[in-house]
Amino acid sequence: MSTLPPTDTSSLLARLPGVSAATLVVSERSQVSPSLVEVRLSGDVAPLVPQPGNDVMLAVPVEGGDGSFRRRYTVRSFDAAAGVLSLWVDTSAGGPGARWAATAPLGSTIELVGPRGKITLDDMADWHLFIGDLSFVSAAYNLAEAIDPPGQAMFLFEVDDRSDVPTPTLDEGIGVTLGVIERAGRALDDPTGLLAGLASLVLPEDEGHVYVGGELSVVATLKRSLLDLGLSAEQVDAKPYWRLGVSNLAHGEPDKS
Ligand SMILES: Cc1cc2nc3c(=O)[nH]c(=O)nc-3n(C[C@H](O)[C@H](O)[C@H](O)COP(=O)(O)OP(=O)(O)OC[C@H]3O[C@@H](n4cnc5c(N)ncnc54)[C@H](O)[C@@H]3O)c2cc1C
Repeated sequence: MSTLPPTDTSSLLARLPGVSAATLVVSERSQVSPSLVEVRLSGDVAPLVPQPGNDVMLAVPVEGGDGSFRRRYTVRSFDAAAGVLSLWVDTSAGGPGARWAATAPLGSTIELVGPRGKITLDDMADWHLFIGDLSFVSAAYNLAEAIDPPGQAMFLFEVDDRSDVPTPTLDEGIGVTLGVIERAGRALDDPTGLLAGLASLVLPEDEGHVYVGGELSVVATLKRSLLDLGLSAEQVDAKPYWRLGVSNLAHGEPDKS
C-alpha cells in the first residue's frame, strides 16, 4: 500500500527542489465571471517566480477542524515589483479550496509553497491547443500569454455556462481561436462534449502541442484520443486537476487509484 508523502511545509521544501515557502496576504478579490473568482495575494512573492503554467500549493483551512489541506492553483499573473500574484479559482468546486477563494477575509494570510508544476509552454511548437474545463482556464491563458508571434493559440473549453469563460487577450500577431461548449446537462466526467469539439477542429499541419486539464477521467479520455489522432506523447501534456465526487487528497492532487 502506498503512503502519501507528508504535506507540512518543511517536508515539502525538503523534497521539492527549487520550491520556496511564503505567507501572503489576501489583498483583493474580484469576480472574473459568475463562477471564476480572482484572488490577489500580496507580500514577498520574490522567491516564487513562476514559469508559464506553474502553480502554487496553498494550505487552505479545513472547515470546522484543525489544520489545512493543500490545494493547487495556477499562477494567473505575477508582478514581482508590486509584490502581487493572482489566481483564478473556479468556485463551483465544492471543497475547502473553493470556499477559501470565495470567502477568505481581505487582510487574512495564507501559507503557500511554489512554484510547482512541470507543464510549461513548448517553445518549439507552431500552434498550441488548450482543452479543459473552467478550472483550466487560468493555466491555459497563462501559458498562451507566453506564446511568441506568429504563434497560434486554440482554446476548447466545456463549461456549464459560456458566460463563465472570459475572452483571451493575447498579443497582436498571435492567432486566437476560442471554442466554448456548453455542458447541457452532461455529467462533469462525461467527455463527449470535448471529444466532439476536438473532432470538429482542423489541426494545422505543422508541429503543435496540446495541453489538457480538468476532471481526471475526461483528461485521460482526451489524452487517448489525441494520441489516436496521431499526436506523439511528447506533443501532449495532460494533467488531472480534480476527480468527480472525490475531494482532492491532502497534498492537492486527485486520487488516481
Ligand atoms: C496543478 C494544478 C493546477 C490547478 N489550477 C487550478 C486553477 O488555476 N483554478 C482552479 O479553479 N482549479 C485549479 N486546479 C484544480 C483545483 O485544485 C481542484 O479543483 C480542487 O479539487 C479544488 O479544491 P476544493 O477544496 O474546492 O475541492 P475538493 O475538496 O477537492 O473537492 C470537493 C468536491 O468538489 C468537486 N470538485 C473539485 N474540483 C471541481 C471543479 N473544478 N469543478 C467541479 N467540481 C469540482 C470534487 O469532485 C468533490 O466532489 C488545479 C489543480 C492542479 C493539480
